[in-house]
Amino acid sequence: MRALNTTLAWVAQGTELCRKALEGLDETSYAAPSLLPGWTRRHVVAHLAGNAEAVGNLVRWARTGVPTPMYASPGQRTAAIEAGAALAGEQLTAWFGESARKLADAMASLTEEQWRAEVVTVQGRTVPASETPWMRSREVMVHAVDLGTGVRFADLPEAFLAELREDILAQRGSDGVPATHGSPAEITAHLAGRPCTGVTTADGLPAEPLTPWL
Ligand code: ZN
Repeated sequence: MRALNTTLAWVAQGTELCRKALEGLDETSYAAPSLLPGWTRRHVVAHLAGNAEAVGNLVRWARTGVPTPMYASPGQRTAAIEAGAALAGEQLTAWFGESARKLADAMASLTEEQWRAEVVTVQGRTVPASETPWMRSREVMVHAVDLGTGVRFADLPEAFLAELREDILAQRGSDGVPATHGSPAEITAHLAGRPCTGVTTADGLPAEPLTPWL
């Protein structure tokens, strides 16, 4: 069971990692590929800002009791990322900062009872609102690495990585992932379908890459 103060702290930490990664990116660096196939850094930041607003919808749902889905439609998420990726770097940095700040404020205003209110995620899972900081922390932590400005899985808190491994294994299903050897951080990167080093199978062979998760 994840404690709310822990996941809220991870949101703040991951947001700070992203903020620092974006600091001083010029237009050329912004247009460069991220570590995610087919996405530039612009796409990653547009997705992160859109995600803050989407998670914010769930927080509003918990506060008001009025069902507010993360995204209006399945296509809206993709369309918003593409549209956002056309913005200038400066605008993207501002959008990321503002959306993250609004989400932090909204989360800070929830009462204990509202944290227990049930909301429905984009995957159709019914969860208490207290799950939303965990959902958001995965985004800011993992995409901080995806930005490709030097943040590595090894830089993320060990307790967060342990939680993430468990979460990904539950979602991928234990049959879908062979047992691997390597450092905990690199094993987490492998499970998340990210570039990793030194992760091997039981036979000592390099582990097959998995499709990116998130
Ligand atoms: Zn994501």
